[in-house]
Amino acid sequence: MTKLTGQCLCGDVKFTADGDVAFQANCHCVDCRQTTGATFATLLFMQQSDVEITGEVKSFSHSVDSGNTLTKHFCPNCGSQVYGTSKSNPQMIALRAGCVNEQGEVKPQINVFAGSKMDCTMMDPDLPAPERMPG
Ligand SMILES: [Zn+2]
Ligand SMILES: [Zn+2]
Repeated sequence: MTKLTGQCLCGDVKFTADGDVAFQANCHCVDCRQTTGATFATLLFMQQSDVEITGEVKSFSHSVDSGNTLTKHFCPNCGSQVYGTSKSNPQMIALRAGCVNEQGEVKPQINVFAGSKMDCTMMDPDLPAPERMPG
């Protein structure tokens, strides 16, 4: 079990997570780059029931090539993206690693959408790096 806490930049939105982190990934897809404003997103996937969010969030939904609809949830005050959800996997939540306080728990296991990474992004050569999201 992993206990995680985190918040947005202004602190209006906070989360506490207590459960297993199912999967941690660096995502280099264009959507993640644009939505985070960073060269890639590091995502911690957990069961939504293990995560408690406090504070009001706004959300933005968009469809992706696979036909799925993804939703980004962000603080309406400071704009920080705190987590994401997926229509095809509604019980999961993807916490944005940059908001997590417990740095030692952030250990990405894979680089996904490596085919879309920016030229400047260095990737750990010991991690798998599929071109797209593994099926
Ligand atoms: Zn905020
Ligand atoms: Zn992505």
